[in-house]
Amino acid sequence: MDVAPDAIATAVIDHEPPLAEATIPTTVQPGGGLCFGLEAAWGRARRAWLHRVRPGYVRRMTAIRQGQCDGCTHDIVDSRDLKLVRNVCGYWFRPEDDRFRWRDRLRIAR
Ligand SMILES: [Zn+2]
Repeated sequence: MDVAPDAIATAVIDHEPPLAEATIPTTVQPGGGLCFGLEAAWGRARRAWLHRVRPGYVRRMTAIRQGQCDGCTHDIVDSRDLKLVRNVCGYWFRPEDDRFRWRDRLRIAR
């Protein structure tokens, strides 16, 4: 596409809603929704159970967790917890540390 440079400089791009009102997404599905809410609630309950009943697993997974997420507000215990926040969280797990990797073979979102 050839566009004259002065046309680029003077072009006004209208966005609806205006970019000034844009927000930074905090999850993979900023609009939320019933199923998203249910899955998030299940994740909170599962992590609470893991912290209470399987603290050794939580410590082990925290030790092998990769990446960095400054000021992380996500409770990432294992790879399942990244599903809803993987676009905003800097943590990740190596494939060999992801015991839920088999779920990639299922034809559902992971
Ligand atoms: Zn994070």
